[in-house]
This record gives sequence, structure tokens and C-alpha cells, in this order.
Amino acid sequence: MKAVLVICDGLGGRPTDYNGKTCLEVANTPNIDELARRGITGLLDPIKPGVRPGSDTAHLSIFGYDPEKVYTGRGVFEALGIGMDVQDGDVCFRTNFATVDENFNVLDRRAGRITEGTDELERALQSLKSSQPDVEIFFKASTEHRGAIVLRGHGLSGQITDADPHKTGVRMIRSEPLVDSEAARRTAEIVNELVEQSYHILKDLPINRKRESEGKLPANILLFRGAAVKPDIPSMEELYGIKGVGIAAGALYIGIARAIGLETKRAEETTGGADSKIINKAKLAVEELQNGKDFAFIHLKGADSCAHDHDAEAKIAYIEKVDEVIGYLLDNLDWDDTHLAFTGDHTTPVVYGDHVSDPVPVVFVGPNIMPDDVERFNERSVLKGGMGRISGRVVPILFGYCNWLKKYGA
Ligand code: ZN
Ligand code: ZN
Repeated sequence: MKAVLVICDGLGGRPTDYNGKTCLEVANTPNIDELARRGITGLLDPIKPGVRPGSDTAHLSIFGYDPEKVYTGRGVFEALGIGMDVQDGDVCFRTNFATVDENFNVLDRRAGRITEGTDELERALQSLKSSQPDVEIFFKASTEHRGAIVLRGHGLSGQITDADPHKTGVRMIRSEPLVDSEAARRTAEIVNELVEQSYHILKDLPINRKRESEGKLPANILLFRGAAVKPDIPSMEELYGIKGVGIAAGALYIGIARAIGLETKRAEETTGGADSKIINKAKLAVEELQNGKDFAFIHLKGADSCAHDHDAEAKIAYIEKVDEVIGYLLDNLDWDDTHLAFTGDHTTPVVYGDHVSDPVPVVFVGPNIMPDDVERFNERSVLKGGMGRISGRVVPILFGYCNWLKKYGA
């Protein structure tokens, strides 16, 4: 048996999207509709009714983990997602290259959307050092202003506030402990020390001198946010005895896949943006399943980004690209022994431009599934679906159809 999960990020919409219809209703999606015809449909509350999901917590819940128990924060997924090593007890942060003036007033949280020369900044930041000799520091730059930092040592805590004011025109703020513990106090102190050090390391680098001479903002400080210790998550292999692959382009999703023990692969010419060649993800998934993997997770980011940008036309066009991905899977998977689930990780309506708690349509297809009589796949048609309304746990339901679940009780 094989299993495939396709997540179209931010898939769900509202009737206010486009002349009384959702983007998914407007889009021309013959292949996604074919899934509905063959399978069982319903509505998914990614975490539970009335919870507005982040992408990270929603994915954990869809994979069958309880985010209230295992979620520690976003920083760890970002660090894993850009290929950093994360060990038990490490504290991870997302970082931004930012611009401050000499009084530490924040002028730009993204250093003028810096695109070039971040490798030079990364090299210079290898000299970051804690005054506490037992704590090691690892920094890695990723795309544009983004990066991640990992603190390694005994007695560290993720229970600290961001060293990031989250707005411009104000002074930098210090990280503070969120709980009354020596570990939290010590970690906050180390972060504050590293922020100040980053300014002294970065401010006079040649790349920043050059940026200033060109009228650009220098990348002269690191902002720290999303502190998180490595979560205690049993892997898919431990839970189900299966080997899986995660195919994603965005760092967060690669990181989540690594955190649950999936091998991660990047398909050619995929970017995480709306221009990504996402059909290559379907091709790679089919290859991986043919080469022995039991489970493939495909993440498709673009619909969510278009909805954050309030762009209904772009979201519709992207969903039509997703339809081609599903078309490839329909043509190339072995449907005698494959089960597939297709859904979104949350609803992102184009008018609101951010995630909301509304449920998102879901469909399961495969030989062991009793189909309902829904023939189109969208927020309205699946109201009549046989799956009803479920909360998270899409992957355990999918694996149940594959006969991969251990019995609960005798
Ligand atoms: Zn999302
Ligand atoms: Zn989003």
C-alpha cells in the first residue's frame, strides 16, 4: 500500500472571494473534481473548530500530532528547514537582517529587503560567541533577510520574548524571560548579548559600506524571534513503521517534514512562490513511491501567498496549476494500492488576507474508500460529503485506509 498527502496551503476561501463564490469554486479544476467523484469528501477543521491555525500548528495537527502538546514555536522548523542540525535541548530562533541607527532605533526590519551579499554577512557572524563558555552558537542565512540561529548548551530555555520590536521607528527591545527560571533568564541574557555583538560585527563590513554608498540600508543587526526548543515528536516511522518523503520548497514545510522524520527532497525548478514548477513535485513523488517510499507528502504554497496579497485572480490561477498536479497523480499513481488525501492547511480568504478559523474542504481517494455522491470539490459541494466535519488527523485517517494503524486496546 502507498499513501499520498497533498496540501494546498491556504486552499479554503469564502463566498466573498469572487462574485459570491470562493476561488476554488471559480477555478476550473476537472482533476480535483475527479478526486471528489471517486472519493469521500468533507470539511476539515485543521486544528479544531474555532481555532485560527498557523501553517506550522495546522500541519502538525493534520499529521496527527496534538499541537497543544508538541508545538514549541516556529524557530525550530525554520532552522531544520534550512538544513541546520538541531539536537535535544537546543534553542532555535528565526532571525532577520535588519537596519538600526546608532541609537538602536529600528529603521527597517528587513534591511531594505536585502538580496545580495548575505553570504558575507553569514561568514562574519560565525564569530558570534557567548560569554558563557558552555554555550555554542550556530548561525545560517537563508533567503533575503531571513536566517536562523541555534544555541546549544545545558540549561537553556525557549521561554523568552523576541528581541524584535516587530515595528519600525522604535528602539530595539531586549529579550526577557517568560517564566521565572534560571534557564530562561540565562537564555534571554545570551540573546541580548548576541544581538549587540551582531551590530558590532556587521556595521562596518565592506558589504554594508557599499550598500550605504549606493543609498541602500545596511544590514547591521540581527533580530531574534520565535524562540523554540526542539519538540519531542515521535517520527512517522516510529508511529506507523513507514518510510516517507516530504516534497516542499518553503523552509517552514521542509522543517516540519524533517521534524516528523520524513526524508526531504526538493523538486527541480520549485521555489515556494506562485511561479514555481509544481508539476515537478508530483513527478518526484511518483518516483519516490516507485523507489520504495511508502508515503509522500507534497506541499504547495502559492494559493496562500496569493490570498495574503488579496489577489483572487492569482489564487484562482494557482489552484488551476494545482489541478495539473492532481491530474499527473491521477494518471501516474497505481490506484489499485494507493490512497490519497487532498486538502488545505487552513482557509485564507482573499478579502481578509490572512488565515481564518473556517474549515477547509478535504477529500480521500483509494480502493478501500466508500465514495459519497459529491461530484465537485469546493467549500459548498463538500457540505454534503460523507466524511462530515473532521478535526485534524488527516494522515491517521489516510493511514487507516492503508491498514497501517496499530490497534488501540486489545
Ligand atoms: Zn498555511
Ligand atoms: Zn499564510
